Amino acid sequence: MKEKEMKIETAVIHKGYDSSNHHDSLVTPLYQTSTYSFANAEQGEDRFAGNSEGNIYSRLGNPTVRVLEERMTEIEGGQGALAFGSGMASVSAILIYLTKAGDHVLCSRGIYGCTFGLLEIMEEKYGITHDLVSMTTEEEVEKAIRPETVCIYVETPINPTMELVNLEAVVAVANKHNIRVIVDNTFCSPYLQNPIRMGADFVLHSATKYLNGHGDVVGGVLVGSDAEEMQHIRMTVQKDVGGIMSPFDAWLLLRGLKTLHVRMDRHVSNAKTIVAFLKQQEIVENIYYPFDENHPQVDIAKRQMREGGGLISFEIRGGKKEAQAFLNALSLIKIAVSLGDAETLIQHPATMTHAVVPPESRQAMGISDSLLRLSIGLEHTDDLVNDLSKAFEQVKPKLQEI
Ligand SMILES: *Cc1c(COP(=O)(O)O)cnc(C)c1O
Repeated sequence: MKEKEMKIETAVIHKGYDSSNHHDSLVTPLYQTSTYSFANAEQGEDRFAGNSEGNIYSRLGNPTVRVLEERMTEIEGGQGALAFGSGMASVSAILIYLTKAGDHVLCSRGIYGCTFGLLEIMEEKYGITHDLVSMTTEEEVEKAIRPETVCIYVETPINPTMELVNLEAVVAVANKHNIRVIVDNTFCSPYLQNPIRMGADFVLHSATKYLNGHGDVVGGVLVGSDAEEMQHIRMTVQKDVGGIMSPFDAWLLLRGLKTLHVRMDRHVSNAKTIVAFLKQQEIVENIYYPFDENHPQVDIAKRQMREGGGLISFEIRGGKKEAQAFLNALSLIKIAVSLGDAETLIQHPATMTHAVVPPESRQAMGISDSLLRLSIGLEHTDDLVNDLSKAFEQVKPKLQEI
């Protein structure tokens, strides 16, 4: 009988750890070691041959890191997970694993800038091509499939426009063509969206963001739906490319992850309050938030997400000058990229995260010079509203001058 799955609120605290195997330590110990000693030569031989379980060398596995991997497997509804030294290390591992020269990767209309950069390198060096397309319906996905397409790589909601990918449609088309689906679930966290439960093969995270939630770790996690395949990736691509997570970062992540559900509830409720506030501001032109009733794909959002998340994008009247003046007028809210931290962060995609995208492509993606992205933190919303109001007031006179 299949073991009953724990609720996510319990799994983030308990799953994958048994204190009786660790001197009764309540908290997962930090195994800060690079290697492990074998009891005898034969044990070493057995472990290398894969005939017995046990540690060999920390690039192939570490007890602290393994607790995190088991916990992530459970909360994403997968069958295995691997932790990496950054979100990008998990992106590169899965793309190296799935593709060979001549293959084609079909991507959502927007993907993380460095993922796009990696795909450009792969195209230039190995002839692995990619396309970025809108994926709201099955027809749109189907049209873009080529005979050499081996996987569909998506992010949803897409950064920073909050456009959605229809995961149900993507999975249906992928199954028809027998190709794999990878979802970068960083923006939602496993608390808000579980693509493997909807039929995706792999989910990955920049653990730097909501999973850790405290802004003090760079890390990544890849979760898969097939235990044997994940073990294979561990002993090939992960071992040989080597972008592993350090035991200390795994230890910090285990600490951060324990409060994922509590933090996400607050990120979401704070975000709802801020969306309502922004709607009353004459100086704000467009608001992009997945669960906003005016979002063109709110139906898709409500089918695949538990809540709308903690990220809000909006356009301020004016252009780059007004957007920058607004950022400079904030004091509590910090100007920073990254997301998912306790601190509320704001950034200007046109000159920061998406500065390398040529202006015409930026326009086509819906990223104007007046677009701003907020990562709503855990502060009291009265203080956030005060900071935003004060900054809006300071920018208004500048607008009247034009
Ligand atoms: C930050 C981020 C990444 C990259 O993760 P790192 O931990 O910075 O390497 C990938 N995808 C998304 C959606 C991200 O926000």
